[in-house]
Amino acid sequence: MNEWKCSNCGYVVSAEAPPGDTCPSCHEKCSWLNVTCYIPDCAPEGVDKRL
Ligand SMILES: [Zn+2]
Repeated sequence: MNEWKCSNCGYVVSAEAPPGDTCPSCHEKCSWLNVTCYIPDCAPEGVDKRL
């Protein structure tokens, strides 16, 4: 699952793929930013950060 953020209003949705051209929150055309790795609990499991 990925986290997508509306470039227009900042609405964040969790989905495999971005919801489309139109944001369900602000109903504006927007581009979806993949913010999956910018959320605090995103740390990948089983990956040694020292490597
Ligand atoms: Zn929006």
